[in-house]
Amino acid sequence: KSTAVPNVDGSINNTEKEDEEDVVDLAANSLLNKLIRQSLVESSHRVEVLQKDPSSPLYSVKTFEELRLKEELLKGIYAMGFNRPSKIQEMALPMMLAHPPQNLIAQSQSGTGKTAAFVLAMLSRVNVLELFPQCLCLAPTYELALQTGRVVERMGKFCVDVQVMYAIRGNRIPRGTDVAKQIIIGTPGTVLDWCFKRKLIDLTKIHVFVLDEADVMIDTQGFSDQSIRIQRALPSECQMLLFSATFEDSVWQFAERIIPDPNVIKLRKEELTLNNIRQYYVLCENRKDKYQALCNIYGGITIGQAIIFCQTRRNAKWLTVEMMQDGHQVSLLSGELTVEQRASIIQRFRDGKEKVLITTNVCARGIDVKQVTIVVNFDLPVNQAQEPDYETYLHRIGRTGRFGKKGLAFNMIEVDKLPLLLKIQDHFNSSIKQLDPEDMDEIE
Ligand code: ADP
Repeated sequence: KSTAVPNVDGSINNTEKEDEEDVVDLAANSLLNKLIRQSLVESSHRVEVLQKDPSSPLYSVKTFEELRLKEELLKGIYAMGFNRPSKIQEMALPMMLAHPPQNLIAQSQSGTGKTAAFVLAMLSRVNVLELFPQCLCLAPTYELALQTGRVVERMGKFCVDVQVMYAIRGNRIPRGTDVAKQIIIGTPGTVLDWCFKRKLIDLTKIHVFVLDEADVMIDTQGFSDQSIRIQRALPSECQMLLFSATFEDSVWQFAERIIPDPNVIKLRKEELTLNNIRQYYVLCENRKDKYQALCNIYGGITIGQAIIFCQTRRNAKWLTVEMMQDGHQVSLLSGELTVEQRASIIQRFRDGKEKVLITTNVCARGIDVKQVTIVVNFDLPVNQAQEPDYETYLHRIGRTGRFGKKGLAFNMIEVDKLPLLLKIQDHFNSSIKQLDPEDMDEIE
């Protein structure tokens, strides 16, 4: 019945939807991550490597010079402010640039330098004298393809004869045109169309094939099959590279189908822990009461910056209005915003322009705002069965042991939700203390 038109991120501006939880949109999250990324993400784990030929020596590099790159490519890397390879790049780059070329499956969380690594590989393998597509990179969405293209353009700034083209819906190529760009970045559907129907790309001439964001890719209907059809038409000597931020079994199965004889590189994620977090709960009657408790906490302790989580968009909106009317500077991050709007809100919050960020579940997933010391669960995270959503609780409140600072977490609990809280406490085997909101002395 609804006539609402979805936004770019798939959300719908429509009041009926307002009461719903935001659903996880992997592609949108991934784009958001890229837009707000400021630097490399660290991990204290070691890179795990599984070589296709375990007897061959394993090389790693500590500098970009050791890779013997083209002068103009090295210049581009330094112009981007990269001084040395990231952890995953140390191992991945020598494999990717080896002769003969090697195939690679690499998994590490977003922000660890995967894109920069495969862009470097594509740029270094392009033959600028040949004017036809040589490197093909598949991405899950138009926006993600553009982001990768920007990295190619920045890193390849001094490689003046290398050019990129986007095989994405809406990029119309007149009939009979010869595609003379060496690097093609596109979504599986359009690439398939360009290769088989329109014959704009000759897949037999591709020598580097990249499948980026494999986890997001397999989440999209049809993309796995389309990617595999493309891959099957590549020449056997084509180098094949696959990247993913996560590695569930489904991603792994897909990776093994599409990348023959791969080397495998993994970098585990820094684990989240509740160890450095003091957790409290406040018993409340209803929503108004929760708000009052929140205000008391707010008045009772010196708060740097806080993130407040609500379960539904409607609650988040209500709370935002209440707080604003009481003169607080707050901003609302919710799934009905476009990814660009979300990125700009997060950026403002990071810059300290707002002290409080109110958000629904999934928007703030994976966003680490380092200066935040206080997290409030205005609603406890629950799943569809109304059971506690432990993972989300950990994501909201947990910090990485090595890099995290101490934090405070407050849970606003209606009396009937107390059993959920106790389950959470048991699950993490960590204590959540009851707090009397009239008496904040306990905290400081
Ligand atoms: P991923 O693809 O794993 O998400 P990116 O390649 O996008 O990671 O890198 C994340 C961020 O770190 C980007 O801002 C990128 O410019 C930067 N970056 C990548 N490699 C390096 C490096 N070797 N040194 C410094 N910064 C880097």
